[in-house]
Amino acid sequence: MYDVIIIGAGAAGLLAAARAAEQGRKTLLLEKNRKPAVKILMSGGTRCNITQSTDIKGIVAAYGASGKFLHSALASLDPQAVVELFHAEGVPTKVESTGKIFPISDKALDVQQALLRRLGRSGAEMLVESPITSIYRTDNRFMVVGPQQTWIGQSLILTTGGQSYPGCGTTGDGYAWAATLGHTIVRPRPALVPITSAAEWVRGLSGVTLPDVGVRVMEPGQRKPLAQQQGSLLFTHFGLSGPAILNVSRVVSGHATPASLILECDLLPNRPENWLLEDLQKASQTMGNQPVLTRWTEHLPRRVAEAIFGIADLSLNRKCAELSKAERGRLVSTTKRLPIPITGTLGFEKAEVTAGGIALNEVASSTMESKLVPNLYFAGEILDLDGPIGGYNFQAAFSTGWLAGTSAASQVYRRHPTEKAEGVAFLHVGGMTIPIPPNLFDL
Ligand SMILES: Cc1cc2nc3c(=O)[nH]c(=O)nc-3n(C[C@H](O)[C@H](O)[C@H](O)COP(=O)(O)OP(=O)(O)OC[C@H]3O[C@@H](n4cnc5c(N)ncnc54)[C@H](O)[C@@H]3O)c2cc1C
Repeated sequence: MYDVIIIGAGAAGLLAAARAAEQGRKTLLLEKNRKPAVKILMSGGTRCNITQSTDIKGIVAAYGASGKFLHSALASLDPQAVVELFHAEGVPTKVESTGKIFPISDKALDVQQALLRRLGRSGAEMLVESPITSIYRTDNRFMVVGPQQTWIGQSLILTTGGQSYPGCGTTGDGYAWAATLGHTIVRPRPALVPITSAAEWVRGLSGVTLPDVGVRVMEPGQRKPLAQQQGSLLFTHFGLSGPAILNVSRVVSGHATPASLILECDLLPNRPENWLLEDLQKASQTMGNQPVLTRWTEHLPRRVAEAIFGIADLSLNRKCAELSKAERGRLVSTTKRLPIPITGTLGFEKAEVTAGGIALNEVASSTMESKLVPNLYFAGEILDLDGPIGGYNFQAAFSTGWLAGTSAASQVYRRHPTEKAEGVAFLHVGGMTIPIPPNLFDL
């Protein structure tokens, strides 16, 4: 019998368990894998980008419409507090030019070890190799069932993550349990995932990186993009990757017909269309003999410039003076609005996060407690929350885990107003657990 049971020892679960135990609650953290926090170990190219150099507002803004759900969680543990938490565990951090914060050691292992040290001091118990198969709510408690054992908890925190990288243990188990307890699950979709393209010329550019590209996801016949981003883009043997691509990928995986979408790329976002046209016109007068391709390779890698010429239907040896006005326009518009046909994404296998999950309107953002099931809490990626690249997802997992652990520990056991009095309730006072009469909380 535990005060608080947490299922899933990732970023959210480790902090939730530490927080609950630090407040004197008998706490159990259950993890399916042999090692806890496997995703921390593989994150950020094994360097773990723990958070972003910004404040609460910056994190909320990055989450768009869902951001406001994070206010209370971030107020309980903001990005600065996350950094201080790791410093206190002897893990100094650094801020990179992108605002990403990493351990100075560049070792994700240091991040995992820091969280385990904090958990160890808290007094929480952790059991690894404990894959939970089902949970039940009975007599105002939760029965948590593993293959060989069952545990009983007064409060339950689900931190089982999403469905991405299922090889890490994240196979969406928490969704099914939450659904049986009455929660709505917003359809899980891969996010922060590479995008696939069957276009030969795209695959032909495999290995080329463009540091600054404007990417827009367009539906046929529509002028307003479904999503847009500016940043680095990488051509691969299957299609496209890099931060700008990953950050727009959720609208592709969430679309009913992803193969109907087009990625419209501005390969020179800092060069206005008029500037490029005038530059070409001037070159036709002053450097008429120069091949246009040479001029274009001043802006872009040669392989990309050659691909653009192919798409704009211009031969590679055309000279500046030979280009007609219409051809200049075609070259510039292809460069500024390069259409890349896509087929979809690499799916959950290669998605850094899962979009969708437990519907936010059924969870109290001030505590992370379910609005439907008393003493049930959610934190981390299991929630219908996904942020962009840059440490935002760990920040949300840390903050919601911290708040869920704090709330679960500080709640006295209570019955939901709609529930009939049954069984025995407990009150926690000064570290002691006292049975209380069943009718005490009747309204
Ligand atoms: C390759 C990769 C790189 C990433 N890099 C970054 C980065 O640098 N910065 C960033 O902010 N985000 C990054 N992310 C995203 C980040 O890892 C996640 O958002 C974060 O780990 C979510 O934390 P969580 O605690 O909610 O879930 P998870 O870390 O996924 O933890 C869930 C845990 O629950 C356990 N579990 C699941 N089902 C059961 C069950 N039935 N019984 C027992 N245990 C169970 C799982 O084994 C797992 O340990 C990356 C993700 C990937 C895949």
